[in-house]
Amino acid sequence: MIIFFGPPGAGKSVQGQILAARHGWRWLSTGQLLRDTHDQTIHETMNQGKLVNDESMNRIVAEALKNAQDVENLIIDGFPRKVEQGKWLVENLKKYNSGIDAIILLEVPDDELKKRLHIRGRADDTSKNIALRSQDYLSKTKPVIDYFQNAGIKVRTINGEGSVGSIHDRIEEAVESCLQK
Ligand code: AMP
Repeated sequence: MIIFFGPPGAGKSVQGQILAARHGWRWLSTGQLLRDTHDQTIHETMNQGKLVNDESMNRIVAEALKNAQDVENLIIDGFPRKVEQGKWLVENLKKYNSGIDAIILLEVPDDELKKRLHIRGRADDTSKNIALRSQDYLSKTKPVIDYFQNAGIKVRTINGEGSVGSIHDRIEEAVESCLQK
Protein backbone atom coordinates (compact mmCIF):
# COMPACT_ATOMS: atom_id res chain seq x y z
CA MET A 1 0.00 0.00 0.00
CA ILE A 2 1.16 3.47 -0.91
CA ILE A 3 -0.39 6.51 0.74
CA PHE A 4 -0.43 9.97 -0.81
CA PHE A 5 -0.20 12.95 1.48
CA GLY A 6 -0.18 16.65 0.73
CA PRO A 7 -2.30 19.76 1.23
CA PRO A 8 -5.50 20.30 -0.76
CA GLY A 9 -4.51 21.06 -4.35
CA ALA A 10 -1.10 19.32 -4.19
CA GLY A 11 -2.06 16.90 -6.98
CA LYS A 12 -2.59 13.74 -4.93
CA SER A 13 -5.51 12.50 -6.99
CA VAL A 14 -3.99 13.16 -10.42
CA GLN A 15 -0.67 11.59 -9.46
CA GLY A 16 -2.26 8.70 -7.55
CA GLN A 17 -4.42 7.80 -10.53
CA ILE A 18 -1.52 7.94 -12.98
CA LEU A 19 0.62 5.73 -10.73
CA ALA A 20 -2.24 3.26 -10.34
CA ALA A 21 -2.94 3.16 -14.08
CA ARG A 22 0.72 2.63 -14.98
CA HIS A 23 1.10 -0.35 -12.65
CA GLY A 24 -2.37 -1.87 -12.72
CA TRP A 25 -2.88 -1.01 -9.05
CA ARG A 26 -6.08 0.21 -7.44
CA TRP A 27 -6.53 3.87 -6.57
CA LEU A 28 -8.74 4.47 -3.54
CA SER A 29 -9.78 8.00 -2.75
CA THR A 30 -11.80 8.49 0.41
CA GLY A 31 -13.12 11.80 -0.96
CA GLN A 32 -14.41 9.90 -4.00
CA LEU A 33 -15.83 7.05 -1.87
CA LEU A 34 -17.66 9.65 0.24
CA ARG A 35 -18.97 11.53 -2.80
CA ASP A 36 -20.31 8.18 -4.10
CA THR A 37 -22.34 7.53 -0.94
CA HIS A 38 -25.92 8.79 -0.85
CA ASP A 39 -25.55 9.89 2.75
CA GLN A 40 -26.89 13.45 3.04
CA THR A 41 -25.20 14.10 6.40
CA ILE A 42 -21.83 13.13 4.95
CA HIS A 43 -22.36 15.33 1.88
CA GLU A 44 -23.30 18.29 4.08
CA THR A 45 -20.16 17.84 6.18
CA MET A 46 -18.03 17.73 3.02
CA ASN A 47 -19.73 20.78 1.54
CA GLN A 48 -18.84 22.69 4.70
CA GLY A 49 -15.18 21.77 4.25
CA LYS A 50 -15.20 19.77 7.50
CA LEU A 51 -13.83 16.31 8.20
CA VAL A 52 -16.28 13.42 8.21
CA ASN A 53 -16.44 11.55 11.57
CA ASP A 54 -14.01 8.70 12.20
CA GLU A 55 -16.72 6.09 12.64
CA SER A 56 -18.10 6.65 9.13
CA MET A 57 -14.59 6.91 7.69
CA ASN A 58 -13.35 3.70 9.28
CA ARG A 59 -16.47 1.83 8.14
CA ILE A 60 -16.07 3.01 4.54
CA VAL A 61 -12.33 2.33 4.44
CA ALA A 62 -12.74 -1.13 6.04
CA GLU A 63 -15.24 -2.07 3.34
CA ALA A 64 -12.93 -0.79 0.59
CA LEU A 65 -9.94 -2.70 2.03
CA LYS A 66 -11.99 -5.87 2.22
CA ASN A 67 -12.93 -5.50 -1.44
CA ALA A 68 -9.33 -4.89 -2.45
CA GLN A 69 -7.77 -8.02 -0.94
CA ASP A 70 -7.10 -9.54 -4.38
CA VAL A 71 -5.38 -6.51 -5.93
CA GLU A 72 -1.59 -6.37 -6.13
CA ASN A 73 -1.21 -2.94 -4.59
CA LEU A 74 -3.36 -0.10 -3.36
CA ILE A 75 -2.87 3.63 -3.60
CA ILE A 76 -4.70 5.54 -0.93
CA ASP A 77 -5.61 9.18 -1.36
CA GLY A 78 -7.21 11.13 1.48
CA PHE A 79 -6.81 8.70 4.36
CA PRO A 80 -5.65 8.86 7.12
CA ARG A 81 -6.25 12.55 7.79
CA LYS A 82 -5.89 12.28 11.58
CA VAL A 83 -3.51 10.39 13.89
CA GLU A 84 -6.47 8.34 15.21
CA GLN A 85 -7.25 7.22 11.66
CA GLY A 86 -3.56 6.40 11.12
CA LYS A 87 -3.49 4.17 14.20
CA TRP A 88 -6.71 2.51 13.11
CA LEU A 89 -5.24 1.81 9.66
CA VAL A 90 -2.02 0.27 10.98
CA GLU A 91 -4.04 -1.98 13.33
CA ASN A 92 -6.49 -3.03 10.63
CA LEU A 93 -3.90 -3.73 7.96
CA LYS A 94 -2.55 -6.48 10.20
CA LYS A 95 -5.87 -8.28 9.73
CA TYR A 96 -5.25 -8.39 6.00
CA ASN A 97 -1.56 -9.29 6.39
CA SER A 98 -0.81 -6.05 4.65
CA GLY A 99 1.29 -3.02 5.44
CA ILE A 100 2.30 0.43 4.22
CA ASP A 101 5.15 0.34 1.69
CA ALA A 102 5.58 4.08 1.34
CA ILE A 103 4.17 7.48 2.08
CA ILE A 104 4.43 9.95 -0.79
CA LEU A 105 4.27 13.50 0.49
CA LEU A 106 3.66 16.09 -2.22
CA GLU A 107 4.98 19.55 -1.43
CA VAL A 108 3.73 22.62 -3.28
CA PRO A 109 4.10 26.29 -2.26
CA ASP A 110 0.97 28.01 -0.90
CA ASP A 111 0.46 30.48 -3.76
CA GLU A 112 0.61 27.66 -6.32
CA LEU A 113 -1.90 25.62 -4.24
CA LYS A 114 -4.35 28.54 -4.22
CA LYS A 115 -4.04 28.88 -8.00
CA ARG A 116 -4.67 25.17 -8.57
CA LEU A 117 -7.71 25.05 -6.25
CA HIS A 118 -9.19 28.06 -8.01
CA ILE A 119 -8.80 26.37 -11.40
CA ARG A 120 -10.18 23.02 -10.10
CA GLY A 121 -13.41 24.72 -8.98
CA ARG A 122 -14.91 21.73 -7.14
CA ALA A 123 -18.22 22.45 -5.31
CA ASP A 124 -16.48 22.31 -1.91
CA ASP A 125 -13.63 24.60 -3.07
CA THR A 126 -15.07 27.87 -1.70
CA SER A 127 -12.54 30.26 -0.11
CA LYS A 128 -13.95 29.54 3.35
CA ASN A 129 -13.70 25.77 2.84
CA ILE A 130 -10.21 25.99 1.38
CA ALA A 131 -9.09 27.89 4.49
CA LEU A 132 -10.73 25.30 6.77
CA ARG A 133 -9.28 22.33 4.90
CA SER A 134 -5.82 23.87 4.88
CA GLN A 135 -6.04 24.46 8.64
CA ASP A 136 -7.13 20.86 9.21
CA TYR A 137 -4.24 19.69 7.05
CA LEU A 138 -1.72 21.55 9.18
CA SER A 139 -3.16 20.75 12.59
CA LYS A 140 -4.55 17.23 12.08
CA THR A 141 -3.09 15.61 8.97
CA LYS A 142 0.56 16.70 9.14
CA PRO A 143 1.04 15.02 12.56
CA VAL A 144 0.07 11.71 10.89
CA ILE A 145 3.27 11.93 8.84
CA ASP A 146 5.35 12.17 12.04
CA TYR A 147 3.39 9.28 13.51
CA PHE A 148 4.18 7.10 10.46
CA GLN A 149 7.80 8.17 10.39
CA ASN A 150 8.19 7.28 14.07
CA ALA A 151 6.58 3.92 13.33
CA GLY A 152 9.39 3.22 10.84
CA ILE A 153 7.33 3.70 7.69
CA LYS A 154 9.19 5.19 4.71
CA VAL A 155 8.16 8.76 3.97
CA ARG A 156 9.33 10.32 0.68
CA THR A 157 8.91 14.04 0.15
CA ILE A 158 8.36 14.93 -3.49
CA ASN A 159 8.57 18.33 -5.12
CA GLY A 160 5.03 18.72 -6.47
CA GLU A 161 5.84 21.59 -8.81
CA GLY A 162 6.40 21.23 -12.54
CA SER A 163 4.71 19.24 -15.28
CA VAL A 164 2.45 16.31 -14.43
CA GLY A 165 4.94 14.02 -16.20
CA SER A 166 7.99 15.24 -14.35
CA ILE A 167 6.24 14.95 -10.98
CA HIS A 168 5.15 11.43 -11.91
CA ASP A 169 8.77 10.50 -12.73
CA ARG A 170 9.90 11.68 -9.28
CA ILE A 171 7.14 9.63 -7.65
CA GLU A 172 8.01 6.52 -9.70
CA GLU A 173 11.61 6.73 -8.58
CA ALA A 174 10.65 7.12 -4.92
CA VAL A 175 8.10 4.31 -5.02
CA GLU A 176 10.54 1.97 -6.76
CA SER A 177 13.21 2.56 -4.12
CA CYS A 178 10.70 1.89 -1.34
CA LEU A 179 9.38 -1.32 -2.91
CA GLN A 180 12.87 -2.75 -3.56
CA LYS A 181 13.96 -2.95 0.05
P1 AMP B 1 -10.71 15.01 -0.85
O1 AMP B 1 -11.37 14.52 -2.12
O2 AMP B 1 -9.61 14.13 -0.38
O3 AMP B 1 -10.32 16.45 -0.95
O4 AMP B 1 -11.84 14.93 0.27
C1 AMP B 1 -13.02 15.67 0.17
C2 AMP B 1 -13.72 15.77 1.51
O5 AMP B 1 -14.06 14.45 1.96
C3 AMP B 1 -12.89 16.34 2.64
O6 AMP B 1 -12.91 17.76 2.65
C4 AMP B 1 -13.62 15.77 3.86
O7 AMP B 1 -14.83 16.43 4.10
C5 AMP B 1 -13.96 14.35 3.38
N1 AMP B 1 -12.90 13.38 3.70
C6 AMP B 1 -12.10 12.70 2.82
N2 AMP B 1 -11.26 11.88 3.46
C7 AMP B 1 -11.50 12.04 4.78
C8 AMP B 1 -10.93 11.48 5.96
N3 AMP B 1 -9.92 10.61 5.92
N4 AMP B 1 -11.44 11.90 7.16
C9 AMP B 1 -12.45 12.77 7.23
N5 AMP B 1 -13.03 13.36 6.17
C10 AMP B 1 -12.56 12.99 4.94
